[in-house]
Amino acid sequence: MLTDSFIDLHASRIALRKQIEKQANALQEQTRVENIKITQRKRAGYLYAITVLKNIVLEPFFIKAFKAEFKSLKTYESQTINELDSLVIAHGGLNRTILQLEEFLAIRGLWTTNYDEIDYADEVLQSLWKVRALTPQYKEKTYWNTVLPTCALCWRLPQHSHYYCSEHHPNRDQKSYKAAKHKVFRALTQLDNIYIESKFEKQKEAESNSQKASNMYRLLGGFAPHPRYFIKFCKNHVLQTTWIELAKSITTTTQELYPATFNCIKRIKPQDYSCWKNWCLAIIRALDPLQPKAWVVREQDKHLINVESWMAIVSTLHRYECTHRYESLPVNFGPEKGYRRNEEQCSSIKQLIDIQRLETGKVNLSEVARTLGLSRQRIHKIVNTYGLLVKK
Ligand SMILES: [Zn+2]
Repeated sequence: MLTDSFIDLHASRIALRKQIEKQANALQEQTRVENIKITQRKRAGYLYAITVLKNIVLEPFFIKAFKAEFKSLKTYESQTINELDSLVIAHGGLNRTILQLEEFLAIRGLWTTNYDEIDYADEVLQSLWKVRALTPQYKEKTYWNTVLPTCALCWRLPQHSHYYCSEHHPNRDQKSYKAAKHKVFRALTQLDNIYIESKFEKQKEAESNSQKASNMYRLLGGFAPHPRYFIKFCKNHVLQTTWIELAKSITTTTQELYPATFNCIKRIKPQDYSCWKNWCLAIIRALDPLQPKAWVVREQDKHLINVESWMAIVSTLHRYECTHRYESLPVNFGPEKGYRRNEEQCSSIKQLIDIQRLETGKVNLSEVARTLGLSRQRIHKIVNTYGLLVKK
């Protein structure tokens, strides 16, 4: 059964999308008729992109949660914000607000546990992307035709590369690429698997970048049970029952085979989604809030339209589990180095959380970050990694 809040938020999400589309079309029409360009900043002789966001009233829950994480610029601090254009202006323009919203979605689960609220915030982000794409200063970067279906070192789609996501691309971030590779190799040596061992040998011999990446891609796939195991449990649902039954069956099989992945997707109920594709996108969003956009932009969402190509989502779940398994292994780069838990830091964070709970009954991690002089992202990372929000 759909709850009232679901219907309301769902409706206001659709209304938001329609209003943006209408206003964006009107602005594009104006630029065509008057032959004037659209810009992100207010300038004489140009059309102002932010006007597309006018008169769009945001949901109060969203403004409250967003403002708890990100403060407005000083000049706008005293202003009450209800509408999307004033929110963007008060937060420093399109680019800056988009970055903040991306971060906001990435720390989901800390500001809400409600998926309808996450979907709503995601819609706001998508609106801003759309508006930014109207301006010539920002051209949506072209994407490469990729060779591998996902990054060789994780489950995300490759970006600006044939083989790697932006996080693992050796030319963009050597440190992160090497750390991931190191972890995979270390994990491999701990596995007793002849198939993997032979691939491991091949990897050492590989010469070209493409060979290396393709081998790595296959090596990583050996960390969790192969997606073919799903066929046994789910195939009867594909043609004989509804997509909801198939989705439920995929969820239960994930629980059996990929526990870490299940942990991320367990709150998603297929019956809350209108169709197969939306459910699939919700699953991807639960794994990483920025990935659905990548799927849509790269037109990979075409694999999510038909229930018949259900293995696309199963492969994603498989890949996520593999990534989680190698990433969660402890790594030491030397006797004194490595990413060990900093006990002192953890206990300070825990103490501050306990004090906040006693005083206000709530936890404000941004406040903790400010007190300890750490970034918000770092605090969220530590809190998530060591489960410091769990009440003991
Ligand atoms: Zn990657």
